[in-house]
Amino acid sequence: MKKLYFITGSQDLYGDETLKEVAKDSKEMAAFLTKKTGDIAEVVWTETVRNSDEAENICLKATADRDCIGVITWMHTFSPAKMWIRGLKALTKPMLHLHTQANEKLPYDTIDMDFMNLNQSAHGDREFGFICTRLGIKREVVVGFYKHADVVEKIRGFAEVALAMNYSNNLRVAMFGSNMRDVAVTDGDRVESEIRYGWNVNYYGIGDIVEIAKGVTGKEIDAKMGEYANKYELATKDTEAVREQARYEIALEKFIARERIGAFTDNFQDLHGLRQLPGLAVQNLMAGGVGFGAEGDYKTSALMAVLCKMAEKRKGATAFMEDYTYDLTAGNEKELASHMLEVSPVFAADKPKIEVHPLGIGGKEPPARLVFDGIEGEGIAVSMVDMGTHFRLICAKINLVKQEKPMPKLPVARLMWTLVPDFKTGAAAWIYAGGAHHAVVSTALKVEDIKLFARLTDTELVIIDENTRV
Ligand code: MN
Repeated sequence: MKKLYFITGSQDLYGDETLKEVAKDSKEMAAFLTKKTGDIAEVVWTETVRNSDEAENICLKATADRDCIGVITWMHTFSPAKMWIRGLKALTKPMLHLHTQANEKLPYDTIDMDFMNLNQSAHGDREFGFICTRLGIKREVVVGFYKHADVVEKIRGFAEVALAMNYSNNLRVAMFGSNMRDVAVTDGDRVESEIRYGWNVNYYGIGDIVEIAKGVTGKEIDAKMGEYANKYELATKDTEAVREQARYEIALEKFIARERIGAFTDNFQDLHGLRQLPGLAVQNLMAGGVGFGAEGDYKTSALMAVLCKMAEKRKGATAFMEDYTYDLTAGNEKELASHMLEVSPVFAADKPKIEVHPLGIGGKEPPARLVFDGIEGEGIAVSMVDMGTHFRLICAKINLVKQEKPMPKLPVARLMWTLVPDFKTGAAAWIYAGGAHHAVVSTALKVEDIKLFARLTDTELVIIDENTRV
């Protein structure tokens, strides 16, 4: 079970009675928050911090605890902030500073000096906030009574981002083959990716998969075909081509388990020993939250895995997508997003069909793939690019829309969307920002989630929304 440490600040000045009350209130608060976020992480109450040794001890403990994904801090009373310096310098976990009170209403009739001294987060949280700002600590500040729904929602959002960051820090990414020859935007600094996001990105030969695929048994393939039959409509007579994809998926699953991989890439230029480009195999894996980036795009692959983890407890779809082509009808512009094959069935409006068609690229046998039209609704597209000196995230609001007419001759899955604030502004802003033609699209996550992830990972972020002007 993942944990969020609930750390309450105070000091010795007030005497035992006050500190007992502080402990009682913070215990109640932690228990309440566990009820609200327990599916993501347990909110663990910790002893009230009274001095710099205790501050350092709890921060070191949080830093060392592998199950601790972040901390929630709250100054119930005044807590002189110099005593937090050593501790905060030792803290490496994401922080949510909860600016709240144990009491919702001010007890006008009974308030006295004791009450005011006990419940003075308006005072103590400002002191604590200053030292966090002075130390340059990237954190989330949530304001309001802790039981209010909007406050709980923000705490849940933080917990989800913290969980995703924890996952990110341990994410191993396999690149089968390298980056597509000559392509710029999908490339990147893998060392910096590991320093900043924890992504351990390594190259593997496609032969590693070919070897495992050779050992896959007919029985294993039968079972995988059963899974496909349950989830999808088999709309081809070429079952051999489908079985070939089942073989790849099983091989990939075995490789993923063996190497503890959470995201991978392939490259159609490097398929030695495979008869088809993995299509259906990749699509079905993506549906389970395994990150994927085509053409060696390790950044989008890793980002997909991280954002899938972030969205794990939410409704909606999250996966890799590619910008392809437009309908440029004036005033009714739409984008058609798709890929050669690899579009996740989480985006399917209806039951996807398994079809087999030739692929005009890569010189391999016709691959089996899932074909479907996309869902509708609000979403975001998130792209990560390497600027040489730093990574940049570009996050654009999009509206997924129904395609106007069927596309009977397009043998791949697709999504259509409109841009925000309007087509020309949205597309120009994306291009000026250097956004890639690959992105992670999500109908589960909001701009706010990406904003928090960017802040906590200290990543530059360009937001394209209804307020954007180029
Ligand atoms: Mn692509």
